[in-house]
Amino acid sequence: MIRFEQVAVRYADADRPSLSGVDLTVPEGELVLLVGPSGVGKSTLLGAVSGLVPHFTGGVLTGRVTVDGRDTRTHKPRELADLVGTVGQDPLAHFVTDTVEDELAYGMESLGLAPDVMRRRVEETLDLLGLAELRGRPIATLSGGQQQRVAIGSVLTPHPKVLVLDEPTSALDPAAAEEVLAVLQRLVHDLGTTVLMAEHRLERVVQYADQVLLLPSPGAAPVLGAPADVMALSPVRPPVVDLGRLAGWDPLPLSIRDARRRAAPLRARLAPLTGPDA
Ligand code: ADP
Ligand code: MG
Repeated sequence: MIRFEQVAVRYADADRPSLSGVDLTVPEGELVLLVGPSGVGKSTLLGAVSGLVPHFTGGVLTGRVTVDGRDTRTHKPRELADLVGTVGQDPLAHFVTDTVEDELAYGMESLGLAPDVMRRRVEETLDLLGLAELRGRPIATLSGGQQQRVAIGSVLTPHPKVLVLDEPTSALDPAAAEEVLAVLQRLVHDLGTTVLMAEHRLERVVQYADQVLLLPSPGAAPVLGAPADVMALSPVRPPVVDLGRLAGWDPLPLSIRDARRRAAPLRARLAPLTGPDA
């Protein structure tokens, strides 16, 4: 669904590329989690999919990124809106209207759809994201999790096949993050949407990923693979993966629940060392 062919991005005045050697495919209907240290090029890679790079950021993109066959270098973000929905870390930065319902409708305005189609899509999206009761509410009065769901809803009304999210839960508390992740899972499972998401709060998301795409360090080749395999060599990882590495578990646990299931033998091994009260 998303194809990178020998992609590199060099920003103006930079002495080296911010991204290079990206040659891989994100399959349709998967949730792929993009991870890597800060500054390694995650936002740049996502921007190359949504068209923000190079159209809005400047710089030079070499190689080719295609989404469902459409080349992002020859299509501006607006010309990709029916195919790629883009959501950032701070939803407030992107809202254009004041209320939930207006914001959902706004995303379709440039598509030239009939008014009854637009109304139907707003209704579907309100239901899908659990926003129906909030439809008339001023966006400014919503919680962070609700605002992020509105931001996702506003890019879903054009029915994109691909959703690109840059740290969508980083600014949220754990409960709000769960709300947003539940919505993303529903999109992947029920609608077959392809989701490419960067997130540094790995403990929140790695358990939901079909594959993990790792940018290990600036200039190093990206690695795409099964979450537990990629976590085994990732320089950034959630605490539960560190525990699993320390304990020598294979495959590595990706969630607290995984770890708890694996922990009984470890507990038995540690018991003589720690005494009965530990
Ligand atoms: P990440 O999202 O992994 O933190 P970025 O993609 O934001 O990384 O940045 C990768 C590198 O590119 C960094 O060195 C950053 O300073 C540089 N960079 C990012 N955006 C721009 C831009 N618009 N212009 C110039 N340099 C940029
Ligand atoms: Mg970033």
